[in-house]
Amino acid sequence: MDNTTFVCSNCGAVHLLTEAFSMNGKYICEECLQAYTHVCESCGNRVWDADTVSDGNIVICRSCYESRYTHCCECDRLILSESAYYDDDEEPYCHNCREQTMRLIRDRRKICVNDKNCGNEKHRLSQEWE
Ligand SMILES: [Zn+2]
Ligand SMILES: [Zn+2]
Ligand SMILES: [Zn+2]
Repeated sequence: MDNTTFVCSNCGAVHLLTEAFSMNGKYICEECLQAYTHVCESCGNRVWDADTVSDGNIVICRSCYESRYTHCCECDRLILSESAYYDDDEEPYCHNCREQTMRLIRDRRKICVNDKNCGNEKHRLSQEWE
């Protein structure tokens, strides 16, 4: 080992120093960088895959998830807490699911108008949202 190479702290292989990437103060090789790390779509920091949260759509780091994101209770999509819609049960919805749920509630309501025995509380939910 001379000063033009380094040992990847992840896979242990020797690589050229010019191919080193710094991860939290440790050097890793490009293969490991591609295979085991991700750039958070929210804050732009590169983090280990184990420290990410994904919905199959976007990948964000755990700290962004914990401080700013939540999962839509319908489709499981990651959404910013501040742009999520909450129903009476404090369940978060993404924009799409909110639209769909509202449509569904409206349709159900039409049925309920004709059925005075319907006691489902969910059918009155949309009054809060409109
Ligand atoms: Zn490596
Ligand atoms: Zn982040
Ligand atoms: Zn959704």
